[in-house]
Amino acid sequence: MKITSPRRIVGSNAERSRLHNRQVVLGHVREQQPIGRAEIARISGLSTQAVSNIIAELEEDGFLLEAGRQTGGRGLPALQYRLNGDGAAALGIEVRPDAMFGALVNLEGETLFTTREALADNAPVTVASMARRIRAAALETRPAGQRMLGAGVVMPGPFGNVGISGAGQSALQGWEDTDAAALFEEALEMGVIIENDATAAAVAERVRGVAAGLRTFCFIYFGAGLGLGMVADGEVQRGAFGNAGEVGHVVVRPGGRQCACGNRGCLETYASRIAARARLAEAGIALTSTDDIDCLYRDRNPALMAWLDEAAEPLSQAIGMIENLFDPETVILGGAMPDAVLDHLISGLALPGGSVAVRPDRQTPRILRGACGRLTAALGGAALVIHDTITPRIAAKT
Ligand SMILES: [Zn+2]
Repeated sequence: MKITSPRRIVGSNAERSRLHNRQVVLGHVREQQPIGRAEIARISGLSTQAVSNIIAELEEDGFLLEAGRQTGGRGLPALQYRLNGDGAAALGIEVRPDAMFGALVNLEGETLFTTREALADNAPVTVASMARRIRAAALETRPAGQRMLGAGVVMPGPFGNVGISGAGQSALQGWEDTDAAALFEEALEMGVIIENDATAAAVAERVRGVAAGLRTFCFIYFGAGLGLGMVADGEVQRGAFGNAGEVGHVVVRPGGRQCACGNRGCLETYASRIAARARLAEAGIALTSTDDIDCLYRDRNPALMAWLDEAAEPLSQAIGMIENLFDPETVILGGAMPDAVLDHLISGLALPGGSVAVRPDRQTPRILRGACGRLTAALGGAALVIHDTITPRIAAKT
Protein backbone atom coordinates (compact mmCIF):
# COMPACT_ATOMS: atom_id res chain seq x y z
CA MET A 1 0.00 0.00 0.00
CA LYS A 2 1.20 3.45 -0.87
CA ILE A 3 0.58 5.07 2.49
CA THR A 4 3.56 6.08 4.53
CA SER A 5 1.55 6.47 7.73
CA PRO A 6 -1.59 4.45 8.39
CA ARG A 7 -3.34 7.41 9.99
CA ARG A 8 -4.30 10.69 8.50
CA ILE A 9 -3.69 13.74 10.59
CA VAL A 10 -5.17 16.91 9.21
CA GLY A 11 -5.82 20.47 10.29
CA SER A 12 -3.98 23.54 11.55
CA ASN A 13 -2.79 23.90 15.15
CA ALA A 14 -5.84 26.04 16.01
CA GLU A 15 -8.20 23.48 14.52
CA ARG A 16 -6.46 20.69 16.40
CA SER A 17 -6.62 22.60 19.64
CA ARG A 18 -10.36 23.21 19.11
CA LEU A 19 -10.89 19.49 18.43
CA HIS A 20 -8.80 18.60 21.45
CA ASN A 21 -10.98 20.80 23.71
CA ARG A 22 -14.10 19.17 22.28
CA GLN A 23 -12.59 15.77 23.08
CA VAL A 24 -11.81 16.88 26.61
CA VAL A 25 -15.38 18.09 27.22
CA LEU A 26 -16.93 14.97 25.66
CA GLY A 27 -14.56 12.77 27.65
CA HIS A 28 -15.56 14.39 30.97
CA VAL A 29 -19.25 14.14 30.12
CA ARG A 30 -18.91 10.46 29.26
CA GLU A 31 -17.07 9.66 32.46
CA GLN A 32 -19.15 11.70 34.89
CA GLN A 33 -22.53 12.27 33.28
CA PRO A 34 -24.78 13.98 34.10
CA ILE A 35 -22.48 16.93 34.65
CA GLY A 36 -22.79 20.74 34.49
CA ARG A 37 -20.63 23.38 32.80
CA ALA A 38 -18.99 24.73 35.93
CA GLU A 39 -17.93 21.23 36.98
CA ILE A 40 -16.45 20.50 33.53
CA ALA A 41 -14.58 23.80 33.63
CA ARG A 42 -13.24 23.00 37.09
CA ILE A 43 -11.94 19.53 36.11
CA SER A 44 -10.65 20.44 32.65
CA GLY A 45 -9.03 23.78 33.44
CA LEU A 46 -10.92 25.37 30.52
CA SER A 47 -12.78 28.63 31.20
CA THR A 48 -16.53 28.41 31.87
CA GLN A 49 -17.06 30.52 28.75
CA ALA A 50 -14.99 28.14 26.62
CA VAL A 51 -16.90 25.15 28.05
CA SER A 52 -20.22 26.89 27.35
CA ASN A 53 -19.23 27.53 23.74
CA ILE A 54 -18.10 23.95 23.24
CA ILE A 55 -21.26 22.56 24.84
CA ALA A 56 -23.45 24.70 22.60
CA GLU A 57 -21.57 23.39 19.59
CA LEU A 58 -21.76 19.77 20.77
CA GLU A 59 -25.50 20.09 21.44
CA GLU A 60 -26.02 21.48 17.97
CA ASP A 61 -24.01 18.61 16.51
CA GLY A 62 -26.18 16.12 18.40
CA PHE A 63 -23.42 14.76 20.66
CA LEU A 64 -24.87 16.05 23.94
CA LEU A 65 -28.33 16.24 25.49
CA GLU A 66 -29.61 18.35 28.37
CA ALA A 67 -30.25 16.13 31.37
CA GLY A 68 -32.29 18.35 33.69
CA ARG A 69 -31.08 20.56 36.50
CA GLN A 70 -29.15 19.50 39.54
CA THR A 71 -31.27 19.80 42.64
CA GLY A 72 -29.97 20.94 46.02
CA GLY A 73 -27.53 23.80 46.52
CA ARG A 74 -28.35 27.49 46.33
CA GLY A 75 -29.53 29.66 43.47
CA LEU A 76 -30.74 28.37 40.12
CA PRO A 77 -29.73 24.70 39.87
CA ALA A 78 -27.11 24.09 37.20
CA LEU A 79 -28.15 22.57 33.88
CA GLN A 80 -26.73 19.06 33.46
CA TYR A 81 -25.60 17.31 30.29
CA ARG A 82 -25.16 13.75 29.15
CA LEU A 83 -23.87 11.99 26.06
CA ASN A 84 -26.43 11.45 23.29
CA GLY A 85 -25.46 7.83 22.60
CA ASP A 86 -27.43 7.58 19.39
CA GLY A 87 -26.42 11.05 18.23
CA ALA A 88 -23.45 9.73 16.33
CA ALA A 89 -21.90 6.47 15.18
CA ALA A 90 -18.78 5.14 13.51
CA LEU A 91 -18.33 2.41 10.97
CA GLY A 92 -15.70 -0.27 11.46
CA ILE A 93 -14.58 -2.42 8.54
CA GLU A 94 -12.06 -5.22 8.63
CA VAL A 95 -10.54 -6.46 5.36
CA ARG A 96 -9.13 -9.98 5.51
CA PRO A 97 -7.73 -11.83 2.51
CA ASP A 98 -10.95 -13.84 2.10
CA ALA A 99 -13.68 -11.85 3.87
CA MET A 100 -14.79 -8.45 5.10
CA PHE A 101 -16.47 -7.65 8.41
CA GLY A 102 -18.53 -4.55 9.14
CA ALA A 103 -19.76 -3.04 12.41
CA LEU A 104 -21.67 0.12 13.26
CA VAL A 105 -21.03 1.37 16.80
CA ASN A 106 -22.67 4.36 18.49
CA LEU A 107 -21.13 7.06 20.69
CA GLU A 108 -21.76 4.98 23.84
CA GLY A 109 -19.95 2.00 22.30
CA GLU A 110 -23.12 0.00 21.61
CA THR A 111 -23.04 -2.20 18.52
CA LEU A 112 -25.91 -1.33 16.17
CA PHE A 113 -25.08 -3.56 13.20
CA THR A 114 -22.63 -6.27 12.21
CA THR A 115 -22.02 -8.25 9.04
CA ARG A 116 -19.59 -10.72 7.44
CA GLU A 117 -19.18 -10.87 3.67
CA ALA A 118 -17.06 -13.41 1.80
CA LEU A 119 -14.61 -12.01 -0.77
CA ALA A 120 -14.04 -13.78 -4.08
CA ASP A 121 -10.71 -11.95 -4.32
CA ASN A 122 -9.14 -9.06 -2.45
CA ALA A 123 -8.18 -6.75 -5.31
CA PRO A 124 -8.78 -3.07 -4.48
CA VAL A 125 -11.78 -2.79 -6.84
CA THR A 126 -13.53 -5.82 -5.24
CA VAL A 127 -12.84 -4.58 -1.73
CA ALA A 128 -14.07 -1.04 -2.54
CA SER A 129 -17.29 -2.39 -3.99
CA MET A 130 -17.91 -4.58 -0.93
CA ALA A 131 -17.13 -1.60 1.34
CA ARG A 132 -19.88 0.36 -0.45
CA ARG A 133 -22.36 -2.47 0.17
CA ILE A 134 -21.44 -2.75 3.84
CA ARG A 135 -21.79 1.02 4.24
CA ALA A 136 -25.24 1.02 2.65
CA ALA A 137 -26.46 -1.89 4.80
CA ALA A 138 -25.06 -0.33 7.99
CA LEU A 139 -26.48 3.13 7.35
CA GLU A 140 -29.93 1.69 6.72
CA THR A 141 -30.08 0.48 10.32
CA ARG A 142 -29.20 3.72 12.06
CA PRO A 143 -31.70 6.02 13.79
CA ALA A 144 -32.81 9.14 11.91
CA GLY A 145 -30.52 12.12 12.36
CA GLN A 146 -27.54 10.08 13.56
CA ARG A 147 -24.25 11.63 12.46
CA MET A 148 -21.49 9.50 10.99
CA LEU A 149 -18.15 10.23 12.63
CA GLY A 150 -16.16 8.33 10.03
CA ALA A 151 -14.83 4.87 9.45
CA GLY A 152 -11.99 2.86 10.91
CA VAL A 153 -10.75 0.48 8.21
CA VAL A 154 -8.67 -2.37 9.51
CA MET A 155 -6.25 -4.23 7.27
CA PRO A 156 -3.47 -6.73 7.78
CA GLY A 157 -0.05 -5.11 7.87
CA PRO A 158 2.61 -4.49 6.96
CA PHE A 159 2.00 -1.04 5.49
CA GLY A 160 4.29 0.30 2.81
CA ASN A 161 6.89 -1.39 0.67
CA VAL A 162 8.96 -3.25 3.26
CA GLY A 163 10.93 -6.47 3.41
CA ILE A 164 7.97 -8.64 4.36
CA SER A 165 5.39 -7.04 2.04
CA GLY A 166 3.19 -9.48 0.20
CA ALA A 167 4.06 -12.25 2.63
CA GLY A 168 1.91 -14.94 1.01
CA GLN A 169 -1.54 -15.82 2.31
CA SER A 170 -1.66 -13.26 5.11
CA ALA A 171 -1.37 -10.24 2.82
CA LEU A 172 -3.75 -8.52 0.44
CA GLN A 173 -2.87 -8.88 -3.22
CA GLY A 174 -2.45 -6.03 -5.69
CA TRP A 175 -2.46 -3.16 -3.18
CA GLU A 176 1.14 -2.01 -3.73
CA ASP A 177 0.15 1.06 -5.76
CA THR A 178 -3.14 1.76 -4.02
CA ASP A 179 -3.67 4.66 -1.63
CA ALA A 180 -5.88 2.75 0.80
CA ALA A 181 -7.15 5.82 2.70
CA ALA A 182 -8.18 7.58 -0.53
CA LEU A 183 -9.84 4.44 -1.89
CA PHE A 184 -11.95 3.92 1.25
CA GLU A 185 -12.81 7.61 1.65
CA GLU A 186 -14.23 7.57 -1.85
CA ALA A 187 -16.06 4.27 -1.41
CA LEU A 188 -17.47 5.06 2.04
CA GLU A 189 -18.05 8.79 1.49
CA MET A 190 -16.63 9.69 4.90
CA GLY A 191 -13.34 10.31 6.69
CA VAL A 192 -11.29 7.16 7.17
CA ILE A 193 -8.62 5.96 9.57
CA ILE A 194 -6.54 3.01 8.36
CA GLU A 195 -5.26 0.75 11.11
CA ASN A 196 -3.66 -2.67 11.30
CA ASP A 197 -5.88 -5.49 12.56
CA ALA A 198 -3.98 -6.35 15.74
CA THR A 199 -3.93 -2.76 16.98
CA ALA A 200 -7.65 -2.32 16.30
CA ALA A 201 -8.38 -5.56 18.14
CA ALA A 202 -6.41 -4.34 21.15
CA VAL A 203 -8.49 -1.15 21.19
CA ALA A 204 -11.74 -3.14 21.01
CA GLU A 205 -10.69 -5.22 24.00
CA ARG A 206 -9.90 -2.08 25.97
CA VAL A 207 -13.21 -0.43 25.14
CA ARG A 208 -15.50 -3.39 25.77
CA GLY A 209 -13.54 -6.56 26.43
CA VAL A 210 -11.10 -8.12 28.86
CA ALA A 211 -8.64 -5.21 28.73
CA ALA A 212 -11.14 -2.72 30.21
CA GLY A 213 -9.30 -0.86 32.94
CA LEU A 214 -5.84 -2.01 31.77
CA ARG A 215 -3.34 0.62 30.66
CA THR A 216 -0.47 -1.48 29.29
CA PHE A 217 -1.13 -4.77 27.53
CA CYS A 218 -0.43 -6.74 24.37
CA PHE A 219 -2.85 -8.52 22.07
CA ILE A 220 -1.80 -11.45 19.86
CA TYR A 221 -4.20 -11.34 16.94
CA PHE A 222 -5.04 -14.40 14.85
CA GLY A 223 -5.95 -12.95 11.45
CA ALA A 224 -4.75 -14.80 8.39
CA GLY A 225 -1.27 -14.38 9.85
CA LEU A 226 -0.34 -13.37 13.37
CA GLY A 227 -0.13 -9.77 14.59
CA LEU A 228 0.64 -8.02 17.86
CA GLY A 229 -1.31 -5.00 19.11
CA MET A 230 0.31 -2.98 21.87
CA VAL A 231 -1.22 -0.43 24.21
CA ALA A 232 1.26 1.30 26.52
CA ASP A 233 0.01 3.69 29.19
CA GLY A 234 -3.32 3.99 27.37
CA GLU A 235 -1.84 4.77 23.96
CA VAL A 236 -1.54 2.45 20.99
CA GLN A 237 2.01 1.84 19.80
CA ARG A 238 2.46 1.89 16.04
CA GLY A 239 6.15 2.23 15.40
CA ALA A 240 7.62 4.81 13.01
CA PHE A 241 5.78 3.47 9.94
CA GLY A 242 2.71 1.79 11.44
CA ASN A 243 4.33 -1.63 11.32
CA ALA A 244 5.18 -2.33 14.96
CA GLY A 245 3.98 -5.74 16.09
CA GLU A 246 4.73 -8.02 13.12
CA VAL A 247 5.18 -10.82 15.62
CA GLY A 248 4.25 -13.46 13.03
CA HIS A 249 7.62 -12.96 11.38
CA VAL A 250 9.70 -13.22 14.50
CA VAL A 251 11.91 -16.30 14.15
CA VAL A 252 11.23 -18.87 16.87
CA ARG A 253 12.89 -21.86 15.17
CA PRO A 254 16.12 -20.89 13.42
CA GLY A 255 16.38 -22.94 10.21
CA GLY A 256 12.81 -24.13 10.73
CA ARG A 257 9.80 -24.12 8.47
CA GLN A 258 9.94 -21.94 5.32
CA CYS A 259 7.85 -18.76 5.66
CA ALA A 260 6.37 -16.76 2.78
CA CYS A 261 8.36 -13.72 3.96
CA GLY A 262 11.59 -15.47 2.93
CA ASN A 263 12.83 -16.36 6.41
CA ARG A 264 12.75 -19.78 8.02
CA GLY A 265 11.18 -20.63 11.36
CA CYS A 266 8.81 -17.64 11.70
CA LEU A 267 6.20 -17.91 14.50
CA GLU A 268 3.46 -17.62 11.85
CA THR A 269 4.50 -20.95 10.28
CA TYR A 270 3.68 -22.68 13.62
CA ALA A 271 0.98 -20.69 15.44
CA SER A 272 -1.52 -19.06 13.06
CA ARG A 273 -4.44 -19.88 10.77
CA ILE A 274 -1.91 -20.30 7.95
CA ALA A 275 -0.13 -22.96 9.98
CA ALA A 276 -3.42 -24.68 10.93
CA ARG A 277 -4.53 -24.64 7.30
CA ALA A 278 -1.21 -26.15 6.14
CA ARG A 279 -1.30 -28.95 8.74
CA LEU A 280 -4.92 -29.76 7.87
CA ALA A 281 -4.18 -29.67 4.12
CA GLU A 282 -1.48 -32.28 4.71
CA ALA A 283 -4.25 -34.47 6.17
CA GLY A 284 -6.44 -33.77 3.14
CA ILE A 285 -8.75 -31.31 4.91
CA ALA A 286 -9.53 -27.98 3.23
CA LEU A 287 -10.23 -25.14 5.67
CA THR A 288 -12.65 -22.45 4.52
CA SER A 289 -13.83 -20.65 7.64
CA THR A 290 -13.51 -20.21 11.39
CA ASP A 291 -16.64 -22.34 11.76
CA ASP A 292 -14.76 -25.22 10.06
CA ILE A 293 -12.08 -25.02 12.75
CA ASP A 294 -14.82 -25.04 15.40
CA CYS A 295 -16.38 -28.22 13.95
CA LEU A 296 -13.00 -29.95 13.63
CA TYR A 297 -12.19 -29.03 17.22
CA ARG A 298 -15.50 -30.38 18.51
CA ASP A 299 -14.68 -33.68 16.74
CA ARG A 300 -11.16 -33.56 18.21
CA ASN A 301 -9.83 -33.98 14.67
CA PRO A 302 -6.36 -35.58 14.98
CA ALA A 303 -4.72 -33.19 12.47
CA LEU A 304 -6.10 -30.13 14.29
CA MET A 305 -5.11 -31.52 17.69
CA ALA A 306 -1.60 -32.25 16.36
CA TRP A 307 -1.36 -28.65 15.13
CA LEU A 308 -2.48 -27.32 18.54
CA ASP A 309 0.20 -29.44 20.24
CA GLU A 310 2.84 -28.20 17.83
CA ALA A 311 1.81 -24.52 18.17
CA ALA A 312 2.00 -24.41 21.96
CA GLU A 313 5.77 -24.33 22.40
CA PRO A 314 6.69 -21.69 19.77
CA LEU A 315 3.78 -19.54 20.99
CA SER A 316 4.91 -19.88 24.62
CA GLN A 317 8.40 -18.82 23.60
CA ALA A 318 7.04 -15.77 21.73
CA ILE A 319 4.86 -14.77 24.68
CA GLY A 320 7.87 -14.91 26.99
CA MET A 321 9.71 -12.63 24.59
CA ILE A 322 6.76 -10.21 24.39
CA GLU A 323 6.57 -10.06 28.19
CA ASN A 324 10.25 -9.32 28.55
CA LEU A 325 10.15 -6.68 25.79
CA PHE A 326 7.01 -4.79 26.80
CA ASP A 327 6.32 -5.62 30.47
CA PRO A 328 2.54 -5.75 29.85
CA GLU A 329 -0.13 -6.24 32.53
CA THR A 330 -1.35 -9.19 30.45
CA VAL A 331 -1.12 -10.74 26.98
CA ILE A 332 -4.47 -11.35 25.28
CA LEU A 333 -5.07 -13.98 22.59
CA GLY A 334 -7.93 -13.40 20.15
CA GLY A 335 -9.14 -12.85 16.61
CA ALA A 336 -10.28 -15.29 13.95
CA MET A 337 -10.11 -18.45 16.04
CA PRO A 338 -12.99 -20.11 17.88
CA ASP A 339 -13.01 -19.40 21.62
CA ALA A 340 -12.69 -23.11 22.41
CA VAL A 341 -9.54 -23.38 20.27
CA LEU A 342 -8.01 -20.28 21.88
CA ASP A 343 -8.84 -21.72 25.33
CA HIS A 344 -7.17 -24.98 24.34
CA LEU A 345 -4.09 -23.14 23.08
CA ILE A 346 -3.92 -21.13 26.31
CA SER A 347 -4.28 -24.21 28.52
CA GLY A 348 -1.48 -25.91 26.56
CA LEU A 349 1.03 -23.06 26.90
CA ALA A 350 4.18 -23.70 28.87
CA LEU A 351 5.12 -20.11 29.66
CA PRO A 352 8.75 -19.57 30.54
CA GLY A 353 9.46 -19.10 34.25
CA GLY A 354 12.27 -16.71 33.37
CA SER A 355 10.07 -13.73 32.57
CA VAL A 356 9.49 -10.30 34.09
CA ALA A 357 5.81 -11.32 34.10
CA VAL A 358 6.46 -13.80 36.93
CA ARG A 359 5.66 -11.67 39.96
CA PRO A 360 4.02 -12.54 43.29
CA ASP A 361 1.82 -9.42 43.12
CA ARG A 362 0.16 -10.03 39.72
CA GLN A 363 -3.29 -8.42 39.41
CA THR A 364 -4.28 -10.13 36.14
CA PRO A 365 -3.39 -13.54 34.66
CA ARG A 366 -0.39 -13.61 32.30
CA ILE A 367 -2.66 -14.72 29.45
CA LEU A 368 -6.30 -13.90 28.78
CA ARG A 369 -8.59 -14.88 25.94
CA GLY A 370 -10.16 -11.93 24.10
CA ALA A 371 -13.88 -11.35 24.67
CA CYS A 372 -14.86 -9.55 21.45
CA GLY A 373 -14.92 -12.64 19.21
CA ARG A 374 -14.29 -12.65 15.50
CA LEU A 375 -15.63 -9.12 15.02
CA THR A 376 -13.01 -7.75 17.34
CA ALA A 377 -10.97 -5.88 14.72
CA ALA A 378 -14.01 -4.35 12.97
CA LEU A 379 -15.36 -3.22 16.35
CA GLY A 380 -11.92 -1.86 17.14
CA GLY A 381 -11.89 0.15 13.91
CA ALA A 382 -15.16 1.82 14.91
CA ALA A 383 -13.93 2.25 18.49
CA LEU A 384 -10.81 4.04 17.24
CA VAL A 385 -12.96 6.61 15.44
CA ILE A 386 -15.17 7.10 18.50
CA HIS A 387 -12.13 7.43 20.72
CA ASP A 388 -10.63 9.97 18.37
CA THR A 389 -13.85 11.93 18.85
CA ILE A 390 -14.16 11.56 22.59
CA THR A 391 -10.86 10.75 24.23
CA PRO A 392 -7.60 12.54 23.59
CA ARG A 393 -5.68 9.72 25.29
CA ILE A 394 -6.03 6.42 23.45
CA ALA A 395 -5.25 7.84 20.02
CA ALA A 396 -1.61 8.13 19.03
CA LYS A 397 0.17 11.35 19.89
CA THR A 398 -0.15 13.72 16.97
ZN1 LIG B 1 7.97 -14.87 8.04
